Amino acid sequence: MMRFASLASGSKGNCLVAEAGGSRVLLDCGLSPRETGRRLERLGLAPAELSAILVTHEHDDHSGGAFAFAAAHRLAVYLTRGTLRALEDAGKAVPQVDTRVIDARAAFAVGDIEVQPFTVPHDAREPVQYVLSDGARRLGVLTDLGASTRHVEQTLSGCDALVLECNHDAAMLWGGGYPKWLKERIGGAFGHLANEQAETLLASLDRSRLKHVVGAHLSEQNNRPELARAALARALGCEESWVAIATQESGFGWRALG
Ligand SMILES: [Zn+2]
Ligand SMILES: [Zn+2]
Repeated sequence: MMRFASLASGSKGNCLVAEAGGSRVLLDCGLSPRETGRRLERLGLAPAELSAILVTHEHDDHSGGAFAFAAAHRLAVYLTRGTLRALEDAGKAVPQVDTRVIDARAAFAVGDIEVQPFTVPHDAREPVQYVLSDGARRLGVLTDLGASTRHVEQTLSGCDALVLECNHDAAMLWGGGYPKWLKERIGGAFGHLANEQAETLLASLDRSRLKHVVGAHLSEQNNRPELARAALARALGCEESWVAIATQESGFGWRALG
């Protein structure tokens, strides 16, 4: 059995928890340690039940609480060398934390959880995203990328569950009130995935095993849940109600695989 849930999703903080066998990891920790603990409790977990934190990249909404939470609860932190360097340069890495530098193209294991990192185009030092597996089922998590690539599509094909960035609606972003430089950053090739891009990406994947699709990292300014849900449902040819949307306030509850 494998299961996963989200504590929060969006530009104010991201944190997902996955469990397989007797192992549990956090994927990103962009909330304060106190808030992370509070939301874990809401999902029925204590920090002592976790093994590690996997960090995707140095942006604060993914890494902001990672080292402090890891230090408080003696968890290992897995991240790429580039992400570690960026956090060290910003004074955000804590030396006494058990820090494991990963190769962005090499699979590794955290207890019973198999972890496959994969590279993505995003404006960070060495960003990755992850596929987590119990050996039989695969959960693909993809947020924070400006555009899809062949590598992304090959890695996410055949997953049993996908958490997929639907950051913005292109018309809302470009027609909205953000300054031009910020629109260009978000909408650019190293920014964030629009609903339309998520739809095209999802439609291009092998979806034969797919049991869960959750839209994630929605912009509160430049998107609406119903637009993201409709885009993903179009790609799947399914009822909109089948597609879930992760929220900033509460992420989403446990979903089980197998
Ligand atoms: Zn982000
Ligand atoms: Zn980012």
